[in-house]
Amino acid sequence: MIIAIDGPLGVGKSSVAKEVAKRLGFTYIDTGAMYRAFALKTIDRGIDKEDIKSIINLLKNTDIKLSYKNGELQVYLDGIEITDKIRDEKVSQRASQVASIKEVREYMVSLQRRFGEEYKNIVIEGRDTGTVIFPNAELKIFLTAPVEVRIQRRYKQLLEKGFNVDYEKFVKDFMEREFRDNTRKVNPLRPAEDSVIVDTGNMSFEEVVNRILSLAKEVM
Ligand code: C5P
Repeated sequence: MIIAIDGPLGVGKSSVAKEVAKRLGFTYIDTGAMYRAFALKTIDRGIDKEDIKSIINLLKNTDIKLSYKNGELQVYLDGIEITDKIRDEKVSQRASQVASIKEVREYMVSLQRRFGEEYKNIVIEGRDTGTVIFPNAELKIFLTAPVEVRIQRRYKQLLEKGFNVDYEKFVKDFMEREFRDNTRKVNPLRPAEDSVIVDTGNMSFEEVVNRILSLAKEVM
């Protein structure tokens, strides 16, 4: 069974998807982590964000793996564990830049489909999991919340993770990434027609998780 959870930046997809997967005993797949891993590689190699040809070329020798240690997702890039390194804001921005390149998306989608086949029951989370990666998913959820709420959620999360955040720069970067994800030519963020839209603006984390669990039980 596949549960696909999509939604914009800061809506809480990752935490919710992780918890839903844990309670159902499903495997959690974070598709954003894969774009982030590749983005980190382009930064480490000193590739300019406008150098699309080199970015596409780099895909050829890239190996991204997700694995689980004590139930926690770990991300590997070319055999090296990079789980924490990809959470930096610089990597977030670059991830959204490389994610607008058609060839990068095609590469990631085929990898993500393979993960889906490998693990039978999954909760997969991202921007296009219900529209492109698994259009036949048994349950598709689209999480939303007003932008002010999402900015605060994401800001709090970064502070909790110990990042030193300049608030003004953070808001500027947030809006830039949001705009790029919503307007890119290839698979811009949008809900699948048959997704259940859950407005989390006035819901607690527990309420969102329970709502998804009850929707999942209906299709199980
Ligand atoms: O979800 P997360 O913030 O980790 O994603 C980082 C970036 O990767 C997003 O801003 C988006 O541009 C891209 N992404 C995507 N499609 C996905 C997951 C992430 O385009 N399925």
